[in-house]
Amino acid sequence: MPELPEVQAHAERLEEAFAGAVLEQFRPLTFTALKTFDPDPSVTHDEPLESVRRRGKVLLLVFPSATHIVHLMQGGRLELDEKQAAKPRNGQARWIFTDGRALLLTEAGTERKAGVWVVAGEPDDHEPLGRLGPDAVDVDVDAMVELLGGENTRIHGFLRDQRRIAGLGRRLANEICHRARLSPFAMTNKLDRDEAHSLVEAIGACVDEGLTYERARDKMSSSKERPGSVHHRTGEPCPMCGDAIREVTYNRYTVHYCPTCQTDGKVLADNTTSKFLK
Ligand SMILES: [Zn+2]
Repeated sequence: MPELPEVQAHAERLEEAFAGAVLEQFRPLTFTALKTFDPDPSVTHDEPLESVRRRGKVLLLVFPSATHIVHLMQGGRLELDEKQAAKPRNGQARWIFTDGRALLLTEAGTERKAGVWVVAGEPDDHEPLGRLGPDAVDVDVDAMVELLGGENTRIHGFLRDQRRIAGLGRRLANEICHRARLSPFAMTNKLDRDEAHSLVEAIGACVDEGLTYERARDKMSSSKERPGSVHHRTGEPCPMCGDAIREVTYNRYTVHYCPTCQTDGKVLADNTTSKFLK
């Protein structure tokens, strides 16, 4: 799934290419693509695209009368639609501009979760943004201490929970825990201020690394291409210490970590219960 750096860089690319272009028509291509009914998307027809923004892992196409919130979910992509075929493969929705260009939302797979919310007014007041926590890159140490003090949960789950902190997914949760030298299974209430500080620094460093990689591309990367130290690198040497990266399945999630850097050398077993996970 694209996370904060991928979506941010993509928003920048789209804005560079399409800002100022006038929307001729927004056209859903499936029954499930448009998730809202009021306002009608036609309120934005004949309007210029003002900007393309990101909130969490979500793209915002901002028009004067309404914002089109585009959630890519797992397999969605929003790309230049060069062919403008009548029935594009995996096509969900299309934006046609008066200059003849078009953008196409596609979603690979059968989940059909990607979609478009057209909302008037402040997008943060509406689904799917209404319940998002603060953006991960906006959280300072004080705010992190407060967030960690909320509902007690494991740090890996906390980082992935968009209602608590927005923009991170499985890959960055793995990378951030490793960079901060924290067990992915540490409980949020047990982290002290120094650890909160490490976490904030690790988020900044991992997001910056992803952004640098992503901004050098002209298309969104696939998850396998993205830089990192631990995510999907089971068996490879840890770049910090040389120990072998391990994986453990927990609550349907595969978590990647370095035992030496993160768990005092302890190797975690699948479905490990709390006694190993302190
Ligand atoms: Zn290591």
